[in-house]
Amino acid sequence: MRIWLGNTEELLNTSEVDCTPFFLLKEVITADSIPVSVLSLSMPAKSLHKMLLAVGKGSGSFELWNCDISGRKFDKIGSFDAHYHAVTDLAWAFDGCSLYSCSQDNFVRCWILRGSSLHEVPFPSNTPRLRSSTDVPDIFISCMGLAVSPGNLVLVMVRNLDLELLDSMYQKKAQKAVVEFFWIGGQQQDLLSKASPLVDVVEFPAFPEKELAYWESNILWSLKQYEHLDKPLVLWDIIAALLAFKQTTSKFVEHVLLKWLLSSYIGYNVDLSAEKILPLVSIRLSKINSRKLHLLNIICRRVMLSELKADQVNSEVQNLEVSHGAEGEQVTMWTELLRCSERELRERLVGFGFSAFLSLKSHSTITASQPGYWYPVGLAQLEHWVALNHERVQDQLKVLSSEVGRHEKRLEYSEHEVAEECSYCSASVPFESPEVGFCRGAESDSGTGQSHRLPRCAVSMQVCPTTPLWFCICCNRWGSRLAPETLFSMSEYPLDFKSSTESSVLEVPSKPLCPFCGLLLQRRQPDFLLSASPV
Ligand SMILES: [Zn+2]
Ligand SMILES: [Zn+2]
Repeated sequence: MRIWLGNTEELLNTSEVDCTPFFLLKEVITADSIPVSVLSLSMPAKSLHKMLLAVGKGSGSFELWNCDISGRKFDKIGSFDAHYHAVTDLAWAFDGCSLYSCSQDNFVRCWILRGSSLHEVPFPSNTPRLRSSTDVPDIFISCMGLAVSPGNLVLVMVRNLDLELLDSMYQKKAQKAVVEFFWIGGQQQDLLSKASPLVDVVEFPAFPEKELAYWESNILWSLKQYEHLDKPLVLWDIIAALLAFKQTTSKFVEHVLLKWLLSSYIGYNVDLSAEKILPLVSIRLSKINSRKLHLLNIICRRVMLSELKADQVNSEVQNLEVSHGAEGEQVTMWTELLRCSERELRERLVGFGFSAFLSLKSHSTITASQPGYWYPVGLAQLEHWVALNHERVQDQLKVLSSEVGRHEKRLEYSEHEVAEECSYCSASVPFESPEVGFCRGAESDSGTGQSHRLPRCAVSMQVCPTTPLWFCICCNRWGSRLAPETLFSMSEYPLDFKSSTESSVLEVPSKPLCPFCGLLLQRRQPDFLLSASPV
């Protein structure tokens, strides 16, 4: 087995056939009688240039290698007799701390690597929700492959059925293999198992305290991974796990999420109570990077406010005072946090719109039509929004807004449409909310005209055309424009929008992302054509 090092830049640019941008780094395993069946590698984020390599063999054993890419050092950690038959798949998890192996012998095993020693640990025996009964008979003969979910909380296995034992009339034709989903969020990560006992979670008899503690530390670890911008926001396993726990012990979910807010959003110790922590996060939002705001919004909507429909959340986020009764106290607090966080992102977006327009005006070399550059649309709507929220928005936005307003009077900006029309009845649509517009209807003709409800673009706040381009699966907003790439990588609310847009020209994003959730937007299509939901 050989490891090759590739030069990606050369690979992308070269068009010549005889030019090979790869060179041999190391021949790890020389050919012998036992064939290599599978390999899996992991590049742990905690150590640069380090690579963990697992090589499965036809004999049922696998080898582990510790590779230092920059120093070209390859150390064999060891060879392990793991299975009776050929190893069919290997998967690293938890940043190279755990390894899962499966084999033709139908066994799936979990290993943890500490230093240079490997230990087998049992699979977590408890799952957060009782398994739904399926009509799949438990007659597997081998495991063909496995994969770990993006948040590392679920292990997916593909298993072969014993065709001899299947009912030949019906099952044999329909079933060849089965995909199994297995929770691994309760996976042990340390050998001493001295996981901190949970203080306030007591009433959960179905679950051993130790496994719950593993769940807690694994969920927190998993959420932390998504703070890195290069990890796409695909959170279905974290959300599914939290929702499953919420059904039986919502207290545990709140406990974990408050701990997460405390360590990632506040950074110093306060009492672990929602009344203390949520308002503290709210007032710190301008110092928090956009990615964390996106993560927060998704968790708010999909976990803490999951009983409410997205549209319902949106209308409550708009109206401040909504009472949920005594037991809805929690819902009110999390809605308030979501409202503040989305407003923070909205202000960043509006600020970009204004300052991009102003810098476009001052640099006549960059024209709005130049490809690759982001330019603002719907300035009139943005100004309207600032005017409507005059008491709440930061002063910088008001200054920018009035500056833009002065410019427009003298310069005809082509994309600037003040009055909006209903796409169904062509009545006028006044600006009342950034989310939705209601047309005036055919008032003048009959007096009781129908008013059309028109979604506004999440970015430009303009009324969307009848078939908007993009849809966010999480917040149910529509969009016909995309937000600039910079919005997603901002580290905090800028002190000066103008200098931040002038130093870095705003670029058109390479992927369509929701400005409020950071998730990949979807095209409007029938459900069966949509790709799997990221949340
Ligand atoms: Zn209308
Ligand atoms: Zn969204």
